[in-house]
Amino acid sequence: MTPMKFSILTIFPDMFTGFLEHGIIRRAMDRGLIDTGIINIRDHAAGRHRVTDDRPYGGGNGMVMKPEPLAGAIRETVNRYPDALTIHLTPQGRVFDQDTARELTRTDHIVMICGRYEGIDERICETLVDRELSIGDYVLTGGEVAAMVVIDAVTRLLPGALGGDHSADTDSFADQLLAHAQYTRPREFEGKAVPDVLLSGNHREIDRWRTESAMIRTFLKRPDLLTKRLLTDEETQLLKKWHMEIGRIIKNRGTNG
Ligand code: SAM
Repeated sequence: MTPMKFSILTIFPDMFTGFLEHGIIRRAMDRGLIDTGIINIRDHAAGRHRVTDDRPYGGGNGMVMKPEPLAGAIRETVNRYPDALTIHLTPQGRVFDQDTARELTRTDHIVMICGRYEGIDERICETLVDRELSIGDYVLTGGEVAAMVVIDAVTRLLPGALGGDHSADTDSFADQLLAHAQYTRPREFEGKAVPDVLLSGNHREIDRWRTESAMIRTFLKRPDLLTKRLLTDEETQLLKKWHMEIGRIIKNRGTNG
């Protein structure tokens, strides 16, 4: 199998050292599931000082990443891999989510442009970028952390990345649901016991409890997800049961006014 390739264009290549050397990402590289290439944008800058930024036209704060080094770095990569998808990490891009991560697993090669300062020269966005992605509605100092987020989320969805029979299918967002609650030893911690059903060995009951736990958590923390999900019969029954229970509680308490 050909590994999925990530080419990262950055002026801070060392930031990726620790990230690529640990855990699931490291294992995915060792197993040949992914391959990463770090391209130092500075290597494509001209002159003795290899300057990659300059003042913005029109004045104003900060610096802007110059187009020539970026164009050189992107073209060198894309010329070698013409099918690569070029992504610019920017707070102005479409917000990255689990569906996008899943979609990107079907890409053979992703080139990621990590901006710095006030961002990159607009002409690069116009001519050499296929897609813009943001990791959330906040502003980071650079695209490197955003690139790591994307690589991490995409890699763990690749078949075999999580090891054993562990699958990302039961993770939060896999199916517009948050994951169910998890417990490990000890059986009792600071007066709180693990739910009895999880110790029962009855797998049907455990599955039912996990479905209800996932539904409750999603309902309380992210009700917006439930409105997007096609509910199973079991889940519809659960919502009806809660609806009746909530109705009963309200009725029995009466009202204040
Ligand atoms: N002036 C830009 C703006 O307001 O849109 C922000 C520039 S930011 C300080 C520097 C770089 O960090 C950006 O070019 C981008 O590569 C990266 N960055 C910042 N926030 C990001 C986010 N939410 N998602 C992805 N990349 C981000």
